[in-house]
Parts: sequence; structure tokens; C-alpha cells
Amino acid sequence: MKRVYLFEEGNKEMINILGGKGGNLAEMKKIGLPIPEGIIISTDACREYYKDGQTISEKLKNEVLEQIDKLEKITGKEFEGDRPLLVSVRSGAPVSMPGMMDTILNLGMNDKTVEKMMGIFHNEEFVYDLYFRFIQMFAEIVMCVEKEKFFKLKEELGKEVDRKELIARAKELYGEETGKEFPECAKEQLFMAIDAIFNSWENERAKVYRRINRIDDEMGTAVVVQEMVFGNLNEKSGTGVAFTRNPSNGDKEIFGEYLLKAQGEDIVAGIRTPEPIERLKEQLPEVYNEFSKIAKILEEHNKDMQDIEFTIEDGKLFLLQTRNGKRSPYAAVKIAVEMVREGLLSKEEAIMKVDPAVLPQLLHGNFEESAIKKATLLGKGLAGSAGVAIGRVVFASERVHTKEMTILVREETSPEDIKGISLAQGIVTVKGGATSHGAVVARGMGKCCVTGCGAIKIDDIRREMHINGYTVKEGEFISISGYTGEIYLGKVPLTKPQFDENLKEFVAWCKEIKRLGIRMNADTVGDASLGKGFGAEGIGLCRTEHMFFQKDKIWTIRGMILSHNPEEVRLALEKLHDMQKEDFYNIFKLVGNDVVIVRLLDPPLHEFLPKEQKDKEKMCEILNVSYEEIERRIRNLKDENPMLGHRGCRLAVTRPELYNIQARAIIEASIQCKREGIDVKPEIMIPLIIGAKELQFIKKNLIKEIERVFEGERMRVDYKLGTMMETPRACLLADEIATDVDFFSFGTNDLTQTTMGLSRDDSVKFMPEYYENGILKVEPFATIDERGVGKLVKLAVELGRKGNKEIEMGVCGEHGGDPKSIEFFDRVGLNYVSCSPFRVLVAIVAAAQSHILNKN
Ligand code: PEP
Ligand code: MG
Repeated sequence: MKRVYLFEEGNKEMINILGGKGGNLAEMKKIGLPIPEGIIISTDACREYYKDGQTISEKLKNEVLEQIDKLEKITGKEFEGDRPLLVSVRSGAPVSMPGMMDTILNLGMNDKTVEKMMGIFHNEEFVYDLYFRFIQMFAEIVMCVEKEKFFKLKEELGKEVDRKELIARAKELYGEETGKEFPECAKEQLFMAIDAIFNSWENERAKVYRRINRIDDEMGTAVVVQEMVFGNLNEKSGTGVAFTRNPSNGDKEIFGEYLLKAQGEDIVAGIRTPEPIERLKEQLPEVYNEFSKIAKILEEHNKDMQDIEFTIEDGKLFLLQTRNGKRSPYAAVKIAVEMVREGLLSKEEAIMKVDPAVLPQLLHGNFEESAIKKATLLGKGLAGSAGVAIGRVVFASERVHTKEMTILVREETSPEDIKGISLAQGIVTVKGGATSHGAVVARGMGKCCVTGCGAIKIDDIRREMHINGYTVKEGEFISISGYTGEIYLGKVPLTKPQFDENLKEFVAWCKEIKRLGIRMNADTVGDASLGKGFGAEGIGLCRTEHMFFQKDKIWTIRGMILSHNPEEVRLALEKLHDMQKEDFYNIFKLVGNDVVIVRLLDPPLHEFLPKEQKDKEKMCEILNVSYEEIERRIRNLKDENPMLGHRGCRLAVTRPELYNIQARAIIEASIQCKREGIDVKPEIMIPLIIGAKELQFIKKNLIKEIERVFEGERMRVDYKLGTMMETPRACLLADEIATDVDFFSFGTNDLTQTTMGLSRDDSVKFMPEYYENGILKVEPFATIDERGVGKLVKLAVELGRKGNKEIEMGVCGEHGGDPKSIEFFDRVGLNYVSCSPFRVLVAIVAAAQSHILNKN
């Protein structure tokens, strides 16, 4: 196994071994761009390091030394030599994890090299700045000493302090904090740094980032060791980060920031506010021109928008990194579409560039213009990541909770804030520019973010902020715009989802390419029209019980359930029938020629019953019985284990009249539509079955009822009858069941619950520990558990098709809107997925991507 590579030995196809940073540096070297030389320690070496119990083996040490030897020859510099070789040591995983891991600059500095450097540069301020920074970073990354301690020391000693004295005091501090002497030997420094970077793969923030972004823990990180170039050398030196297109709005322009006389981390740390890149045109025009040319080369070579880090040393430009840039969902779509128009990408390539999971953000629109005019503008920062967000202000990540809509407001975000950022609706920072940590991470997650709002003063003790004369306390609402950087007091009303021309075109390409049908889960005309607008091809799940929760309908079903008198039951059922018929008619009419799958009643009946005293009292009046009697009836209906109790089609076995009136309403509404010339396609679905006999019993009753309707109406409509697959037994016996139905729809919410034996309502309480301890990698109610639940789905698909060649199969659990699950459903050959209206676009794009992947 080769553990260490020179840049010239790699390329970007080797990203799995060399990491993103290493692979791209090697590629840039290959195409002749100006990059400082270096070596890469591979991810193989990282995995070996963990296998060996977190130790750097002799083999690795020898390979590193061999390659350093070559690096010294290439650069003409030497560790601790007359022309001292200084290097940066940086982590670089195969998948970009911005700000998640560690960097050490100026490694190789010691008391000897500082003298040699003085001999070369004759610039005490610069040379000692390098040395101090190195001690501080080394102490922080390798020995876990808080960086603030070093900054405080520097501040205390003041600007006038003798520089040698400053270094001596920094080393003293290092000794006090670590109990060890500062290592003077450059090679020892290097091995300690490599060890620390490998270690950082397992630090808390890296683990959380991987979990949120579903990155494989086994991947490991590479380490890039690269010759230093100095952005802090003089006024013609600097460092910057720039994108080849605007990552917020997608415009085709170089977008970025830089700082003169600064080194690496200064720019992203958000400590000094950087200059916009256009200023470089005036300050160092030649460098700007060269950068523009290189940006174009890199974008065309990588066929994607690039995020480039660069350093200028004494007027000469060097590239330190390039990667595909994170961007807002809006920019992602715009860039993909424009790159097709420019001939840079094929449609298929463009489709693969957009992460479907962030698309719902695009559908949340903007502030209403008229409302903005009336709203109180608190202040303005920079537009960090597009979108708008409304939420209660929270000043600490640990106080951001899922239950509340929140806006996290921080002085500057750090990787420790990752969890808070992921839970909050939006992010505001006081410091930092558009490439600061907060903005980059927010953009990656598709979150709205405003950065660099310097007018904000946070008072952590009183938990309030002061901004342009206003005081906003934690818990109060603000509204923020990641399009403009504006921050408003209170809740500013939002516009309807905006579906711009680029997005329309992009979705049209995805529709042309995908194989899977995309339907929606919709129970109301409002939901259905939303989903239809997003491109849903009919309704894959209409949960009839949701209709009962609307307006006063709940009292009718409550009356029906609690009534003991057959005549009262009959009357209540008739009323329910009328209400449902009207609901179905409206939905059928809206959906028109597409399929509508109506699922018959599913939840345990007690879910409909009154819980509060005033509601129980109202029930007493309606049924004319005592309060005690109502309580007794409610008690009788209560299941010990409702999810496995008297619910789903069990209700139809004990009370066939319930399903009968629903079937009657569906068919009558269809006939009414047919008479009006609408060619409806109703499909009736039975939930939660456990076997063929049960299904046949229910089906017989339903068909009898439906035939009665046809006779009475003297008209027939085509309809289909199908079942949900929600229990392991149904999946195991799918061949028997399939002969009796036209379709299967996998209810993967219940199927996950019944297969894993985990309650879908309670599992949030104990699942976090499952992820933290690596027992489960992903949340099984969000992404299909392919190995377990997925195995049953696959088996049921195969058995089902054996039993009935014509059978149609889909999925309507939450997984139907999850990209990773959609790829699985496509692979096992389902015909369609069905998801909530806001996820329809996600599903269309994910289905297109999955088809492209499967095809290739
Ligand atoms: C399911 O179980 O996956 C499903 C769609 O039904 P519900 O969520 O209504 O139980
Ligand atoms: Mg279900």
C-alpha cells in the first residue's frame, strides 16, 4: 500500500485516496496552474492509523520522510535548512467538510529557522508573526490549547513588546498549558501534526457534520502538506477566497473577498472584514486578471462552479485549493441551467449537479413587497445565503430546538454551532463575510443566512441584542432575508412559493429523464392544487381521516363512534357519506384525468374522540347522555397499544359499514364527475392488511356496495382496488395477496414501525443514542432501512409480480420524498413514489438522478 504521494503523482480521479483538497491540488499541478508544491498522506494511511489504535506506524513515518526528501529537492528548500522549508498541514476528506477539520500553518518554524528567515526577508515583524502564529496553531490543533489564551497574551504584552520576548512567553504558555516543551524539531512537529489531523476525523464537530450530511464514518481524511507561500509578507501580498460565480444568486461573475497582508485563516475566521474582490482590480490589477483567467480555466476543467482559495506573495498569485463551490438552492438551479445553455454541461450532467434535498427552500418564496414597506427594518448585513426565514431570536446554539421556529444570532459562528445551524430556520452573524463559516455551512444546508451585520451588539447576560437603537430579546420574532441581508422586527408575511423560469426548465428536463411516477400525498383541494402546480402526477395517498378533522366534521364522526343507538349510527353515517362525497368530488375535479388513490379509514377510532372536558360536555349534549357515560364509552374504545390495536382494516372487519359508506362516496363522486365529462380514475386502498383472507373478506363487502351504487346510478366507472403493504406478514405473503388487487402501495411509515418494532411516535426519545453510538447510521423513519425494511419491500415486489404480472406498485410513506430512498425504490422497480406536495420537486429531481445513475 502506498501511503504518501507527491502532488505530481495524483489527479482528481484519486479523490477517494487523496481527499478533495489533495486530488484537486494534484489536478491543478497536472494542468500547469501555479500551486506551491507538496505531498499528500492518503486516506488509506488514515484508516490504517485507526486500525493500528491511533498510532503513526514506522512504515508511514519512513514514507513521509522519503517524500519530504523529494519535496525538499523540488523546492530547493530544507526543513531547518539555510532556505527553510515551511509547510502548511491541512486535513482534506474525500467529501468537502468546510471548517470541520483542522489546519496548521508555518510548520517548520523554530529558534533556528527564525534566524535563517530573518537573513532572507530582513523583516522582523513578518518573520515573528509567522512564528507566533505557528506556536498558537500548533498548540490549538495538536495540544488542544484554546487560541484565546495566546491572543490574550499578545494583547497583554502590547504592540511594543520585544518580538523575541513574545515568542519566549508564547512557549512558556505552551509549557504551562501542556506540561511539555515546545518541539523544536521540524520532523517531530510534522508527525505530531499528522497525528492531530488524523485524530480530528473523530472530533465531535466532524462527527456531527458527517451525521447530518450522511457522510461515511469509514472514509477517513487525507493530510495535505504544502510548501508555505506568504500572504502576510508585505503590502503586495494577501490571501483570499473567490467563487467563479455568485454562490448566492448564481450570477456569472467572480465573487469573493480578500485581505492584504494576511495569512490563510484570517479570511475565513471572520476576525477582520475582508475587501470585495473587485477592489483587487484596482489594488493589484495584474493579479486580478490572472485570477480571472485561472477561474475560467478551472470552471471549464471541472465543469462546475469553483470555490478557490488563493494567496498572493509579493505580487505573485498561488492557488491553494479549488473545489466545487457550495451554493444556495436558487444559485444551484440557475448555474446548472445556464451551464447547459453555455454548452459546458449536458442536461444529464446538469441534473446531477443539484442536491434535491435543498429544493424545498426554493419554494418558500420571499417577503411580500407591500409588507416590507410597512415592516420595521432593524438593520442590514450581507446576503450570506438566499431565502427568507422567520423565527424567534436565540443567541446560543444549545437553546435552538426543533419545536420552535428560531433564528440563531451569533457574534460569529464556529463549527461548534453546526447543530444549532441545522435546527434553526435562519442564521445571522455579526462578523464575517460571505465566505465565513456560517455562510458556507448555511448555504450547504440550503438555509437562509445573513452575515456581517456589524450593527448588532449581543448582550449574552441579558439575552438580548441591540441594533440601531432597537432592543430585541431572546424569544422575540424577527424576519431575515438572505437575498438582501435585511433584518426586520416581527413576522413579515411571505409570498407564495416562487417557481422561476430556470427551475421550470430544470424540472422539465428531470421529468423527461426519470422513470418513476411522482404522485402526491394530499387530502385537501388546497394541498392537491399545490402539488399539481409542482408537477405531481395525481394523488398517491388521500388519507380520508384527515378530512374528518376539518371544520365541524369531527362532531359527526365522534357522534357516530360514541353512539349506541343503531338509528343514530345510521344517521351519522349518512351525514359522513354526504360530507365525504363532496370532498371527493372536489378533489377528483381538481386532479382531473390523473389517478387519485383514496385510502379508507386507518387510525384507531379513539383518535377522533374528545379529550378536553369542554368537548366531552358538548358530546353529552349531542348524544343526550351523561358525562360519566361519555367517559365510560371513551374508556372502552381505548387500546393499550393503539398502533397495533383496533385500527386500519381491522375496523372494516368489525364495522364493515364504515368502509362501505366511504366506498359509496368515492364511487358516487366519480359518477358525478363522469357525468360532467371528467374522466376520473379512482383507486380504493385498504390499509394495514395482514393477509389474503382478510383482504378478500373486506373486498367482498366493498364490491357488493359498489355494485349497488352502479345499479342505483345506472352508470359504471372504472375503478381499481388495492392495498397498502404495511406489515411484514403482508410482504411475506405478497404473492397470495397480489392476485386479489390491482395495486400495492408500500406504507413505509408503518412498515418501518412494524418491521423494526419501533414506535414511530416514540422513537425520537431514544434514537439519538443509536446514531451517536453508530448502531444506526440513518434515521429509519426518514430514509428507508434498506438492509431490513428494504429487504421486505424487495421481496414483496418480487412475490407480488409473481402473483400478478399486471400489478402496479408504489410507495406512499414519508420515504417517498427522500432522495436516498427514492433511489432504492427506483432500483427495486416500483412504478411510482408519492410524497407531500412540498417534496414533489425533490422527488422529481431525485428520480431523474436515480435513473441516470442506474442507467450508467
Ligand atoms: C404509512 O404507514 O407509510 C402511511 C403512508 O400511512 P400513515 O402514515 O397514514 O400510517
Ligand atoms: Mg400507515
